[in-house]
Amino acid sequence: MAARIIDGKALAAEIRNALFSRVARLTAAGHQPGLAVILMGDDPASAVYVRNKALACEQIGIRSWIDRLSDTTGELELLARINKLNADQNVHGILVQTPLPKHIGTPKVLESIAFEKDVDGLHATNAGLTLMGTPYFRSCTPYGIMKMLESIDAPIEGRHAVVLGRSNMVGKPMAMLLLAANATVTIAHSKTRELANIAREADILVAAVGRLHLVTADMVKPGAIVIDVGTNRTPDGKLAGDVDFEHVKQVAGWISPVPGGVGPMTIAMLLTNTVEAAERRAHTKPH
Ligand code: NAP
Repeated sequence: MAARIIDGKALAAEIRNALFSRVARLTAAGHQPGLAVILMGDDPASAVYVRNKALACEQIGIRSWIDRLSDTTGELELLARINKLNADQNVHGILVQTPLPKHIGTPKVLESIAFEKDVDGLHATNAGLTLMGTPYFRSCTPYGIMKMLESIDAPIEGRHAVVLGRSNMVGKPMAMLLLAANATVTIAHSKTRELANIAREADILVAAVGRLHLVTADMVKPGAIVIDVGTNRTPDGKLAGDVDFEHVKQVAGWISPVPGGVGPMTIAMLLTNTVEAAERRAHTKPH
C-alpha cells in the first residue's frame, strides 16, 4: 500500500491561520510583531527565500523589513546593523539569511543577535537550551518537523529515529528534539559507514543532507515515517528532495513530499517564533 502523505503545505496554512488572531491581538495592544531580515549579497535562492518570508509575514500582519547589504559589506558594518536591530523595540525577531559571503564569520554574526530575538533558533544559547531539553527558540525546520509528526499522531517514544545530516541548523537540533520526545536517536553523516543499513533500522527517518534522491526504497523499513528536508534541483531544474519519493512511497507508511512538505513548515515556525517573541515582550502570551 502506498504511503500516506504528510501535507506540510496544508499544515503550515493551519498554523498561519491560528497565528493571525494572535498577531491581531498584539497589534491592537500596540505590540505589532516585527521581523527584520538581513540579506547580504545577490544569491538568487537566498533572495527568493527572503521574499517568501517577508510575504508570509505580511499575510498575517507581521511587520517585516529587509535590510539588503552588498556582498562587499564588511563584518563590522554587519555587526553594527545587528546591534541596532537588537536595540530596536519594534523588532522582535532578527534573521540573517545564510550562506554569508566568505569574508564574514558566520558563527560570530549569529552570536551577535540577541538570543531573545533569534527567531531562527541558531544562537548558541538557543542551541544549548534545546540541547538541555528546555528550548527557548527551536530551530525552525526541526520544530516544523516535530509539528508534522504531531499532526499524524506519530508515536515517537521508544521509536528508533535516524537523522541523516548533522548541521547546526537541521540535523543536530532535529536529533535533540526527537531525543526530548523519547525517541532512540541515531545521527548519520558523510563519514557514516553502512548508511543504508542504519537508515533501514529507522521507524522515523529524517533526511537532511542535500543530495538528490540519496534515500532509495531499499533503505527504508516498510511502514516507516520518512521526512524529506532536502532541497535539490533535478537535471531538468525541478525542486526535489533527498528521498526518491516515487519509489520510497511504495514502502514507507508516511512520507513528506518536496515541494509541499518541510519547506512551508519552516516558514510557519519562523512566524510562530516571531509571534512568540512579541508575546513574550508584551507579556500577553496566552497560558
Ligand atoms: P549542510 O549544512 O550542508 O549539512 C548536510 C549534512 O549532510 C552534513 O552533516 C553532511 O555530513 C551530511 N552529508 C553529506 N553528504 C552525505 C552523504 N552522502 N551521506 C550522509 N550524510 C551526508 O545542509 P543543511 O543546512 O543541514 O541542509 C540539508 C538539506 O536540507 C539541504 O538540501 C538544504 O537545502 C535543505 N534545507 C531545507 C530546508 C527547508 O525548509 N525545506 C531548511 C533547511 C535546509 P558532514 O557533516 O560529515 O559533512
